[in-house]
Amino acid sequence: MIPLVDLSAQYFSIKSEIDAAISGVLETGQFILGPNLLAFESEIARYLGVKHAVGVASGTDALVIALRSAGIGPGDEVIVPAFTFFATIGAVLLVGATPIFVDISPDTYCIDTRQIANKMSTKTKAIIPVHLYGHPADMTRLLEIAKKHELLLIEDNAQAFGSEFLGKKTGAIGDIGCLSFFPTKILGAYGDAGMVVTNNDELAENIRSLRTHGWNRKFYPETLGYNSRLDELHAAVLRVKLAYVDQWTLRRREIAHYYCERFLSLQVVAPSDAANLLHVYHLFVIRVSERSRVQKALKENQIDSAIYYPQPLHLAEPCKFLGHEVGDFPEAERAGRETLAIPIFPEMTSEQIDSVVETIENAL
Ligand SMILES: *Cc1c(COP(=O)(O)O)cnc(C)c1O
Repeated sequence: MIPLVDLSAQYFSIKSEIDAAISGVLETGQFILGPNLLAFESEIARYLGVKHAVGVASGTDALVIALRSAGIGPGDEVIVPAFTFFATIGAVLLVGATPIFVDISPDTYCIDTRQIANKMSTKTKAIIPVHLYGHPADMTRLLEIAKKHELLLIEDNAQAFGSEFLGKKTGAIGDIGCLSFFPTKILGAYGDAGMVVTNNDELAENIRSLRTHGWNRKFYPETLGYNSRLDELHAAVLRVKLAYVDQWTLRRREIAHYYCERFLSLQVVAPSDAANLLHVYHLFVIRVSERSRVQKALKENQIDSAIYYPQPLHLAEPCKFLGHEVGDFPEAERAGRETLAIPIFPEMTSEQIDSVVETIENAL
């Protein structure tokens, strides 16, 4: 059996350090907003090259709090890709703003920046590009557009921890970056966790207040906030893993490049990986017109595969009120029909990798 990702293999590779970190927290008896979170926040700030890092309870909360910190809410429009994980759009809806969909570029699966201009209105307040699967969106163009139209640029970096665009870490390029430490992400906790990062002092202050009930001073809310913190137990685990994440990503890239090479001669479109960026391969997503055949063959050989994501979000139930139809965002819809994620994780053995490749080869 080859899983899409093997979290217990990763745990066993660093078990003694993780166990010590967890018992360390249990022994101090400090579980919320303690020393591990403080240390982890400054370690992430240093890693990304950003001034402020604020731990929150999930990547979804990071997006919600990011939007709220800039005062985005009812009556505002936010530009988003039509193809992403639902949370990107859910966050916009949760703060009462309106998601304005833009189609994706078929090679990168990220927002097609050429199509943003004609989606702009006087109500547009922000753009949320998503570095989907670990591939950076075109931040050069996005920065230009955001600057020209005075929009807030919020990077959804949930799938792209450590990835780079022109030598800069994604998440730290726009005005705000949102991170997720969901267990299967590049840097994963043993539960839900997330973070908001920014270089802007005022936004950082709002973010800190929003994660604790809107307080600036204990028990005196200034605004309506949340209870959304990154727990000490998760912070302690994440600090251990942060030391390994670059070597894990190196291995992911090695596996990805091997896959790409082997798929060259097949009817498989492998992900693009340009020289000016660093793709971290949170997922390895191929495009195959014979998707159901490939998926069936993988299943018969006990190899996991999955579709991220079968439904583009302009067609999702909570977005029905926007009145979109099939055909509105053809590349997002085509990606939903043709893409398939195959196993990639740092602990994969070369036998496992070859077995995935050979199964796909035989299916085609
Ligand atoms: C995982 C993910 C999120 C949400 O993160 P959670 O920690 O699961 O709440 C947001 N956006 C994208 C693109 C994601 O993949």
